[in-house]
Amino acid sequence: MSETANVSDIHQAALQRLRFERAMGVEFVPRVTMAPLAAVRQVAPQSVRIPEASAEPAKQPAGSANGTSEPLDRATRWQALEARALACTRCVLHKGRHHVVFGTGNREAKLVFVGEGPGQDEDLQGIPFVGRAGQLLNKIIAAMKLAREEVYICNVVKCRPPDNRTPLPDEVAACWPFLEEQLELVAPKAIVALGSPASKALLRTTQGIMSLRGKWFSYRGIPVMPTYHPAFLLRQYTEENRRAVWDDMKKVVEKIKEGQ
Ligand code: SF4
Repeated sequence: MSETANVSDIHQAALQRLRFERAMGVEFVPRVTMAPLAAVRQVAPQSVRIPEASAEPAKQPAGSANGTSEPLDRATRWQALEARALACTRCVLHKGRHHVVFGTGNREAKLVFVGEGPGQDEDLQGIPFVGRAGQLLNKIIAAMKLAREEVYICNVVKCRPPDNRTPLPDEVAACWPFLEEQLELVAPKAIVALGSPASKALLRTTQGIMSLRGKWFSYRGIPVMPTYHPAFLLRQYTEENRRAVWDDMKKVVEKIKEGQ
């Protein structure tokens, strides 16, 4: 690649970054000394083997709901899956919920965002990511030049854990079959795992988000990009953390463009 092309690429990357910062409410970016190009080379992609899900499946075998051996069509499977989730009492979280927060967005999306679990606003409205963290997620999606309606958004657990605590392993296991079937039905080109609990559940790993983020992993052949949860970003709204999320989202945008 020529030096001119390199300068152009850097210019474009800087412009994209500034647009992302502006979308996230940043008004002023301090001047910094640029690192040599060799120091900012992209890290080689990594992958890990994903063991099969261990949780008991909550879904009906295909074809069994209509009493025939015909496979159920996608719309019928979505309908049945959501109905089962809305009536679910498989774990203790059902006791404190106002709504089951099933998931929202394009059910044929190229990109799925998976969070940890509903918070207070989500529990009251029955929609994922509608509180402050959701507003930040909307900005991140917009900075990726996508509309919220274009992507699919859901959580690992569908009912709000008390006091927004992290879902317990038995709650994640009980709720897993819903997420498993959601991802099977959407069949996206990429998944963004928002925060540690979502990353750990999808990747069957005990590693935390600090070591996972920014690298590609695989969930049953679907590329997974772990990144910081918007709620964490709100708590620690540093340039370093915003840059990390933007770097991750740039990789995601490139990934979903591949093969178009
Ligand atoms: Fe059922 Fe999931 Fe809600 Fe637990 S969190 S009650 S498994 S829908």
